[in-house]
This record gives sequence, C-alpha cells and structure tokens, in this order.
Amino acid sequence: MSAVFLLLCSSLVWAQSIPPTPFEQTKKQSLPDSRTIDDYLMTLDTLSPRARRVALGTSAGGRPIPALLLSESPSFLQGAVGEQHKPTVMMFGSQHGNEPSGAEAMQQLARELVAGEHPELLRRLNLVLVAMANPDGRDLSSRHNANNDNTNIDYVALQAGETRLLVDALHRFDPDVVFDAHESGIWKRVLTREQGWMTDVEAQFDMGNNPNIDGRLREYTEHTLLPALIERVSSAGLAAVRYRGEITSLDQAVSRGGLGITNLRNYAAMQGRVSILVENRLDNKAGVYATPRNIAERVRKQHLSMLAMLQLVADEAEPLLALSHRARQRWQSADADRTLWMGVSFGTNREQPEITLPLVRMADGHKQLHRFRNREAIVTREPVPLAAAYAVTRERERMARWLAHHHITFETVSEPRQLLVDRLEITAVRKQSEARPGVREKVKPEVRVNRQSVTLQRGDLLVPMGQPLAPLAALMLDPRSANALYQEEGWSWLQPGAFPVFPVVEY
Ligand SMILES: [Zn+2]
Repeated sequence: MSAVFLLLCSSLVWAQSIPPTPFEQTKKQSLPDSRTIDDYLMTLDTLSPRARRVALGTSAGGRPIPALLLSESPSFLQGAVGEQHKPTVMMFGSQHGNEPSGAEAMQQLARELVAGEHPELLRRLNLVLVAMANPDGRDLSSRHNANNDNTNIDYVALQAGETRLLVDALHRFDPDVVFDAHESGIWKRVLTREQGWMTDVEAQFDMGNNPNIDGRLREYTEHTLLPALIERVSSAGLAAVRYRGEITSLDQAVSRGGLGITNLRNYAAMQGRVSILVENRLDNKAGVYATPRNIAERVRKQHLSMLAMLQLVADEAEPLLALSHRARQRWQSADADRTLWMGVSFGTNREQPEITLPLVRMADGHKQLHRFRNREAIVTREPVPLAAAYAVTRERERMARWLAHHHITFETVSEPRQLLVDRLEITAVRKQSEARPGVREKVKPEVRVNRQSVTLQRGDLLVPMGQPLAPLAALMLDPRSANALYQEEGWSWLQPGAFPVFPVVEY
C-alpha cells in the first residue's frame, strides 16, 4: 500500500519537474540547435531513472550524435540487454537534416514518457531514440552532413562516418523494430512550378520491401502491421496512406519506396527487423501558417505518427517478436529456401494498371483526382541459391574493414586452400536503361558461371553464409546483384574478366 503510494508520489514529482523541450520553450517558433537538443536529452537522463543518454559518436562536422534509451529495465539502460518479451524499438529522426520535425517529435515523446504519460508503452517496450540522426544537417539546414554525404543512401558503401555509427548502433541495440521518420516536401519543380499541382498527403507509411527480406516478416508487415498503422493514424485524425514514391510530374508512373538496400528502411529489414518509414507533409514555403513554415503542425503530425506506431507495436508484441526472432536466426541453419533474387525492380500492376491520386491546384487550392500509371508490382529476376560462403581475393584489407563495418563475420585464409567454387566471369558490362535523372547510374554486368576448383591464397577472405547477416552480405558481395557494392562510388570493379569475389560451393 505505502509502496504504491510512494510510487504514485514519485511519478507525480517527475510529472511536475520535467521541463518542456527546447522547441516548446520557444512557443514552437524556432528550432533549437543540435547542442541544445543534446543538453535536453542529458537533462532527461538526470531527471529520470528510466532515461539514459548514450553517445553513439560524432558527426563529420564534430557534433555529438546521442541516443536516448527509455526503459523500465536497468539491464537495458546500462548494458543494452534486450528482454525476451519486450520488443526493442529503435527510432531515427531527421536523418535528412532539412526535415527537422522528427527530432522535435521525438523529444516531446521522450518528455511525455519520462513524465509517466502513455505508461503502457514502457511497460511493454524498450526504446532507443536517435532524435538527431544527422546533427550537421540539423544545424546547417541541409539534407546532408557537413561533408555533403547523404547518409540515407549510404547503407551499402558506408562511406560516411554517420552511417557507420548508425549501423554500429543497430548492431549494439539489436532492435526488433526500426522506425525512420521523414518529412516530404509537397512543392516540386516540375509538378508544381511547371504544371501547377501539389500532392495532398499528411502521412505516408512504407516498409522494408526488398523481395529478399524474410518472407514471413515481409508478409506480416505488409498485410497486418502497415494496414493497422494506417488505420490507427487515420482514425486519430491524420489522413494516412501507403507511400507511393515521390510524385514530381503529372505524366510519371507511381510505384512505392525504393527497393534498394542502400537505405536504412531496407537495410534494417534485411537484417530481420520490422522496418517502417513515415513521410509526413512538409508544407510549402510560400504558405501562411501560425508558426514558421507550419512547424508546430508538422511536429504534431510526426508525434502522432510515432505514438500510433509505438502503441501498435506494443499491442502486436507477441507475433512481432516471434517473426523478427525467427528472421534473425534462420540463416544460421541450412534452411530449405535459401534463394536470393539478384535482380529486383518495379513493373506494371496488371490487375490495376492505373491508379488515381488526389492533387491540389497551386493557384486556387482546388482538389482533383489524377490518373497515374501504376508501376508498383515488384519484379524479381535471376534467382541464385545462397552459396556456402563468398571468397574475396582483391583489396582484401579494404574489404575486411568494410565487412567489419557491417558487422559481417568473415575469416582470413591462413594457408593455401583448395575449394569448389562458382567462378564468375564478366563477359560484358552495359549501362542500365532505367536510371532516372538524380538517381545514381547503375551498370549491369553479364556474368557466366564456371564451376571449378580454385586455390585461395593466404590473406584471401572467406565470408560464411551461415550467419544472420548472410542474405545482406550476399546481395552486397555478388556482382550479379542489383545492390552490389560495386555499384557504389570508389568500387568500380565491374570490368570484363574473372571477378575477384565469388560464391564458394563447398566450404
Ligand atoms: Zn527524408
């Protein structure tokens, strides 16, 4: 009785003593810089036994990148040890620095949880909030970091220090759910300036959609979790829909968010995690709003989207944990279905070749449905059975560093070793026709497979495919894959001849 009373009193004390976020302190009129936000996270850490601020590392511009852990479990707070029956949810805000409302919504959420609001959430979840995934971009009002890297598409190359430390954080906290919060501008050069229309969306949700993601996890996310999330956000008063890809012109086809594993959404899902992305509306600069560029309203939308997601994940904890645990374990054993699709792209949805979407006329606000070609079908090509291992015989030290950055396990050959392999011979390289302006140009190698015996030399690397990151590793290492490392800047290895990385048949 008295213990309950004391507990109630102490949460009451917390509730009264938690200061508003720096953004709330400006009456939602101006955005605090990254240091002020970090100071606020440290304040929450000091005030609450359920909050701990940890350093993930430092940005290219020398700014700290913190995470705030929120949990009722001391072993989670102190040692990042997850709990069997509680999903760990990791949330990333403002990875694009010019989409600031994610960082603000996450601080608000942290303040509320520390003050004892939404008590069911910390009873059922462990949270890792990375409110500022890109503090340089935050302070410089830039999409990129201080080195001009776009970390959002860097998850294969891991060129930027920020991407590497976010990947380290994924490894360290091993979340069951990853949530990536973005805002998407409705003003587009062609669609708006030349054609006079803007898209009309408040909240769009997408998921890890690469067809190589664990099948059951993908099915569950697509057919159970995402529809439920859209339903909940919509009934809370914010019109939510499935993400349709960026609409920049009236005569384009619409699809979904990209299939590539170069973004966080697919990268995390390839690791066997439920991965969800939100894009909330980033209002047009020219509009008239109660706060600068409607920032108070934008933060409200991100907060609502995040809160609905957390409540849903808490309600779905049991099936979600079972599926994500299984997806992370299954590659360690010789599973029945270990086929990977090397080619993935969008094609016409033959059952519904056209789709109508609402647009708003810039001049007078008139709303109208427009017809678009519907290229949302996911097309898979080139099935390849997962090898026993991959051998790496070129730039081995650089490759060893890159594998370690991904936390992919490998071994270094210590003495010459003969193995049966599928030697990959590139016979021709052509440019891919589907590249759009602004999208990195890809090349498509034509590959002949020769099964033969090869002697690996001392210092060559062997990457076993019996590890949780096996499918991710294979899709990055295999030159036939649409997401191979060799599509990235500084890795142009795709030349005619025997390829220096190849599948090992028996290992
Ligand atoms: Zn973004």
